[in-house]
Amino acid sequence: MAYSANEQRYQQMQYRRCGKSGIQLSALSLGLWHNFGDMDDEAVYRKTLHTAFDCGITHFDLANNYGPPPGSAEINFGKILKQDFAAYRDELIISTKAGYYMWPGPYGEWGSKKNLVASLNQSLKRMQLDYVDIFYHHRPDPNTPLEETMAALDLIVRQGKALYVGISNYKSEDAAKAFAILKELGTPCLIHQPKYSMFERWVEKDGLLDVLEANGVGCIPFSPLAQGLLTNKYLKGIPEGSRATRGVFLKQEQITEEVLAKVRALNDIAITRNQSLAQMALAWLLKDERVTSVLIGASSSAQLLDSVACLNNLQFSADELKQIETVLG
Ligand code: NDP
Repeated sequence: MAYSANEQRYQQMQYRRCGKSGIQLSALSLGLWHNFGDMDDEAVYRKTLHTAFDCGITHFDLANNYGPPPGSAEINFGKILKQDFAAYRDELIISTKAGYYMWPGPYGEWGSKKNLVASLNQSLKRMQLDYVDIFYHHRPDPNTPLEETMAALDLIVRQGKALYVGISNYKSEDAAKAFAILKELGTPCLIHQPKYSMFERWVEKDGLLDVLEANGVGCIPFSPLAQGLLTNKYLKGIPEGSRATRGVFLKQEQITEEVLAKVRALNDIAITRNQSLAQMALAWLLKDERVTSVLIGASSSAQLLDSVACLNNLQFSADELKQIETVLG
């Protein structure tokens, strides 16, 4: 049957302004790094996309290399967009990125104008889109002048191939330089995408959120559940089909007794808050208003629904925060 979106979707979600821009993003965004490639079950990921939009999630995050194989997440997403979401295109914020390895030779990765422009052209074809809403430089390139990479982002907006631009994985010092160049060019940076979770806190040591706030740039932490570690899924062993069994980005060796002891203690705190651990981990990021949206992954609709319910409690008492720090410390 043709998909028809839940009419109550905008009542269920919270929306937050992205930095000092005109754009508001849903407090949760869905990323398609895993679970949307050719090895995944189309019926499952199609339902996950429906569920996300039905919950009021408006923002879907991709990159040229998501799959596997690389590019397949964009192709699969484009197909479902066309079939199920065509009537809703103007209600969606669709992001993609370039910077990691995508094709052989000197132009298939990093930060040259050649790479960014060619990669976005390929992404648009794969997704069957005229434009994306946000185009990111995926990772800093130590060998290309920042001026060239930022000029490529500016060019892409002027060509109408992206409405906004962002950067990902930049430390605050380089991010500040990038923001200044983009401002000068007349294409202000909309958003920064760092890895940030209870288990990954370089953002705090680096002072990134202060730099983003000072520049009016939004923040969208990726892997907020530490790829599933900050949920209850590994508490009783490693479930069949979980990301850890795929062993590429989350390895079984990472799930040590030390990590599990922390997960168990955090899970106990979550229970006293009437939350799942996933919900508490997401709420813990969203308690900071400088965080525009948390960029989650989900391998099922049930996971997505569990995560979205974090919005029922984003408040933490000083005592709860202290308990969490004690566990993480
Ligand atoms: P998460 O930390 O949210 O991990 C998602 C995984 O956690 C799921 O695949 C699932 O694992 C498990 N999970 C999710 N929800 C629940 C739940 N409620 N209960 C139990 N388990 C749950 O994020 P990702 O690492 O997937 O990253 C999210 C997005 O961030 C990516 O899709 C991508 O868009 C972006 N990203 C950006 C990067 C960058 O360099 N800019 C790098 C990496 C990601 P399982 O599959 O095992 O069921």
